[in-house]
Order: sequence, then C-alpha cells, then structure tokens
Amino acid sequence: MYLEAKKFLSVVVDVVEEKREIINRYRRLLRKAKPVLKEGDAKVIKRAFTIAMEAHKNMRRKSGEPFIFHPLSVAEICVEEIGLGTTSIAAALLHDVVEDTDIQLIDIERVFGKKVSKIVDGLTKIRGVFDYGSSAQAENFRKMLFTLSEDVRVILIKLADRLHNMRTLESMPRNKQLRVSSETIYLYAPLAHRLGLNAIKTELEDLYLRFTEYTTYREIADKIDETKTSRNRFIRHFVHPIKEELDHLKVQYEIKSRPKSIFSIFNKMRKQNIPFEEVYDLFAIRVILDTPIDQEKNYCWQVYSIVTDYYMPNPDRLRDWISTPKGNGYESLHTTVMAKNGQWVEVQIRSKRMDEIAEKGYAAHWKYKDNITKYESNLEKWLVRVRETLEKQDLSALEFVDDFRGNLFNEEVFVFTPRGELKTMAKGATALDFAFDIHTDIGAKCIGAKVNQKLVPINHVLQNGDQIEILTSSKQKPNEDWLRFVVSSKAKSKIKDLLKEDRRKVAEEGKEILLRKLRQMKLEANNHLYDQLREYFNVSSQLELLFKIGKGIISAADLKKFQDQPTPQLKKRPLAETKDVKAIEQQIKAKHQEDTLLIGEDMDVVEYKLAKCCTPIPGDEVFGFVTVSEGIKIHRSNCPNAPELLANHGNRVIKAKWTSQHELSFLTGLRVVGTDRVGLINDVSKVISEELKVNMSSISFKTDPGIFHGEIMLYVNDTRHLETLISKLEKVEGMEQVSRFDGRV
Ligand code: MN
Repeated sequence: MYLEAKKFLSVVVDVVEEKREIINRYRRLLRKAKPVLKEGDAKVIKRAFTIAMEAHKNMRRKSGEPFIFHPLSVAEICVEEIGLGTTSIAAALLHDVVEDTDIQLIDIERVFGKKVSKIVDGLTKIRGVFDYGSSAQAENFRKMLFTLSEDVRVILIKLADRLHNMRTLESMPRNKQLRVSSETIYLYAPLAHRLGLNAIKTELEDLYLRFTEYTTYREIADKIDETKTSRNRFIRHFVHPIKEELDHLKVQYEIKSRPKSIFSIFNKMRKQNIPFEEVYDLFAIRVILDTPIDQEKNYCWQVYSIVTDYYMPNPDRLRDWISTPKGNGYESLHTTVMAKNGQWVEVQIRSKRMDEIAEKGYAAHWKYKDNITKYESNLEKWLVRVRETLEKQDLSALEFVDDFRGNLFNEEVFVFTPRGELKTMAKGATALDFAFDIHTDIGAKCIGAKVNQKLVPINHVLQNGDQIEILTSSKQKPNEDWLRFVVSSKAKSKIKDLLKEDRRKVAEEGKEILLRKLRQMKLEANNHLYDQLREYFNVSSQLELLFKIGKGIISAADLKKFQDQPTPQLKKRPLAETKDVKAIEQQIKAKHQEDTLLIGEDMDVVEYKLAKCCTPIPGDEVFGFVTVSEGIKIHRSNCPNAPELLANHGNRVIKAKWTSQHELSFLTGLRVVGTDRVGLINDVSKVISEELKVNMSSISFKTDPGIFHGEIMLYVNDTRHLETLISKLEKVEGMEQVSRFDGRV
C-alpha cells in the first residue's frame, strides 16, 4: 500500500514540475521573440504552442524529457540564433506534429494559413534525412534542397532542428551518434556556412568533434581554458593604445575577442601536424562599430588606419570583404598585424550590422533590407546555381551530393572579364572553368588564356582580382585530361557531353570496321560474340570495345588473334555482390547474440579487412563498412573518409569492436620530427626494434638543414602498445615530436 502510494506521489510531483518547466521555457521563448513581434503575433505563437503541446503530450524523447522541449528549443534557436520571426516560430513549434501525431497539414493551414503549413510540409517531407538510417540520405538531402528554392526558412528551421538534436545527442546509442555526427560535418555544417550562419556552423563542428573524438575535444577545450588568463592579459595590452585613439572617433565601438573554435584549432593541428601551443592564431580581435549604414566603410578604414599606425600589418593578409562581400554575405575588413612581442594577431573590423550578418546569416539582414542589396543578390545568385544543379536530370543523388559539396559549398574568387565585368567563380577554378562559364563553344575551343596580360595554360588557377582573356582556336578539341583541369560542375558536365559525343562518333566508325572484319572472318555479329570480344579484350562495355576499335587501340591484327585463339570460351565473370547488411548482422548475431562484429574472431562468418586509409589498430574506435565488391572494411571512427561513408551510406555500416588479443600485430604509421644529429636514426631504430621488439615495415627520413622528418610504418599490437612506443621515442635525445598518421599516403 505504502509503496504504491509513494510511487503515485512521485509521478504527481514529476508532472507538476514538468508542467512548470514547460511553461517556463515557453515564456522564455516569448521573451526572446518579443523584439520582433508585431500585433497579434503573440496569439499565433500561443496557438502553435498549445497545439504542439497537446499533440505531443504523451511523447518523450530518448533522454526521458517531455517531447515538447524539443520543438520549444528549435523555436528558440530560430529566434535567438537565426533571427527568424513569427511564421518560423509557429512552424518550428509544429515541425514534428504532422509526422508524429494525428494532426494534418490541412488543419495547420486552416489555423495558421498557407505559409506556415507549406513550411511544415517541407519540414515533414525531409524528415527522413535525420531520423532514419536508410540508404537514401543523399536522396533526402537533394529533396531538402528542393524546398530551399521554395522557402529558405525550411532549411533554416531544419538547421535549428539539427543543432538541437546534436546538442542532445548524448542519449542516443553510439552508432547513431556516429552517423548523425557524420551527416552533420559532411553536409549540414557546410550548408550552415554557405547560408552565413557562422555561430551555428561553429557549434555543429565542435559538437561533431565532441561525439567523434572526445579525448581530443576535451584536451583542446581544457587548454583554451588554461590559457585564458594570459591571453586576456595579452589582449588588454594589445588594445590599450588603440582604444585611446578610438575614443576620439565620433562613433560608439566595442572590442571583442573570442578564441577560435575547438574544431578549427583541431583542424589546424592535424593539417599542419603541430601541437596546440604552436597554433599561433588562437584568437582574433574584433572591433565592432555602431555607425550609420552610409558611413560604415569610411569608419572601418579609419579604424584600420589607427590599428596599423600602432602595429605593422602583414601586407599579404589584408582582406577587404566590405567592397566585395563573400558569397555567403560575409562583410568585414581583416588585417593581421604584429604585436610588440612579435606575435601575429588578426584584427577584424566591421559595423554592428555586418557583425550580426556574420553571426546569424541570411535572416539577420531582413532588418536592414531597405539598404542592402549586395548580400541578397549574392545569395540569390547562389540559389539560382543550386536550382540549376537540382534540375540536372542525369545526376544520381550521390553524384549530386558530391557536386554540391564540390561546388556550391566552396568559397569563391572574384575575377574580371576583359571589359571589367565582375564574375564569381568557385575557389580553385581555372582558366578553362572561366571559358566554359562564358560559353560552351568558347570552352570547347580554349587553348589558353591571358591572365593580367600574361599568357597562361588552360589549367591555370584563378586568383582574386585576375582579369582573364580566353584564347581560342578552331582546331582545339576537348580530351579526358580536361576533366582534371576544371572544378565547376558546369564545365565538368559540358566536357563530359563533348567527350561522349566524340566517343560516340569514334565508336560508330569502330562498328563499321568491326562488322567489315567479322564478315571477312565469317563470324556472325551476335550478342554472344560481343560478350566473347569484351571478355577477350577486357573492356567493360560494347561502347568501349567499339571506341577502341575506332581509335585503332584494338587493331585488325588483334582481331585476327582473337579469331585464332583455340575455341574462344566464355569465362564466368565473378559477380560484384553486396551482401545484405541485415543478413550479415543476423549471421553475426547467430554466433554471439550481438550484432557487433568482433575483429579477430568472426572471420568464419564474414570476411573483413582493415581499411588502408586509416589503418586501425586494436584500441581504436572502429566501425565496419560493407563495400560493393571487397567484403567488409574496418575503418577508424575518425578516419578521414568516415564522414562521407557514414553520411551517404549509413545503411551499409555495421558495428564492430576488437577482441582482446595480443598475438596479432597491425600496421600503423608514425611521424617523427627532431633536430638532426649524428646517430639519431640509429637511436630511433634501436628503440623500435630492440627495446620494444616491434617490426618495422618501412622507414623513410628526409632532412632539411638542421631538422629531420621521418615516417615509419610498423607493426603494433594495439593503441596501448603504440602509446608506450611513442613515449619511448619522445625520450630520444633531439626528438621534438612523435605523432601517429593515417595510413600510407
Ligand atoms: Mn525535430
């Protein structure tokens, strides 16, 4: 009796407490939205909240929280971090209602009107991207971008949704954490970046790192914390003289400084293979001016002048994104100057308006929209390009995602035509890209270009500010190499078309030659014979066969040899097969009641190999990936290829872990850097082979004057073994740094 009563009581208390918390969060949302609310808006939000609350009332999230916390948080992110208004708040509150409950779109339209219901519809359609592990991630992503061309708010709310899901990823199972994080870094963070949502992009990236490499994440976060006091002291000294000058300006200003994000520090450390202490640009100093819009530029340059009066600027590091804003709308003036202690410091100068756009992106500019056209037109241009890519029918969903990442996410360069017309190209674009951008015919006939009056080859990479004149010749013809010379999807697909056309023509000639030959050899041209020919000449398609004959790569003499071979037999071609992932999981489960592949044990059930790209060793966190023709490959969770694999093919991933085993050894790589001294290589080899009895597979050293860099491939048992080895090597005299690197390059 007593027990039951107590149980009952505790539930009652919970519900009351929860109700209060829900109301608190709802009020917080209203408070934050207040500055943008117009008459009647509060009522709309209240209605949306009431409906969502009622619809989700019996639902809970994985964490045990009431479900309504989620839409409330998404709505709050929309207001606070993206700067969206009432329509979006209502849509955000209702974004999971249609999918999860009995409420229908038509009901939402009746109460809130067409706009809100359209956005909710868009959000419902693209749900699969986040919630299910289907193979259709890429397809879903494409679907999502379709809605972007209708109403950008769908994407913005979706990003808010993703951000909240990432913030609450802790309660999800490990494999789901990995998949969701991978999608985030592969597609959503770049998308946020492209839409100018810098704060969200940064947080998504940091969360990705947190869920994929927690130790590294923690280390960097701790070091940022530890260095805070000395950093602040440095900044105070640095800005002190500038402040005095700024006080003379007739304008309000604010100086901020924030350390770089954990993820970007991590990236720098990995790319340049340096420790935290050597990342020199840990923070930037930001001067934000409160100036009328027509005087922004003027004041920003005045501040630039003041800063560079005190500190010497690096002439290569001046960035003027005020005169030409970035494609995602970013406006700011950057300079890197040398502090009195010899340290380089980046200073960013911008107006309050620019700062808000830099943080919140697309939506933030609505407040200023009467005055601003530059930003809108850039984003408009981008949207047009997205639409064009979406409309290309011949791209598969995966190709599309690839294309999208390659082109539409990229940064841009600004270049000029001979007449001084400004053109925006993707970063890395070449003279050939530029030629195709002007016209297909000009691209097809391009033999080179004059860049700033200087003759350059067609694969010359364009720089900001280049003026380009394309040179053509009627004799020019595209070839396969050209595909490597271009980055834009437009140029790529045009070149492919031209090559296809060319190939078809050659293949037609090839067919005539072949038929003539076959008649002479008295052979009948049927499918069976074509199969034999393909087999014999080892080509993948009939078109390739005919093309090679047309080109003369397969000659008349070769065809004769084919005829002369003793009774041509059709060999059985081994079929490329993808084993059903579910079936594999079931086989494993049948063996030890768990659907996790045990590396070192399950060879009898399925075949697997360790991936060469990241060379996992026991102790690494890993997953299995079912490839099309090479069985299962084991990758490290932080493999450079993992985001793509997990994001695009989440359905082919199986869980995997190491069994404890010490007799086996695994190949891994170590990079060592030190001061060059006689006998050092000898000492290194000694530690490896004598002290620790590790087998080296290869070792290569190069020395700059005074410094040596070495790469050693060796066999170890597991991560513990590797760590011991690293710490022993670090003790070798003259050794500066020892680090593991991914695979054989
Ligand atoms: Mn949601």
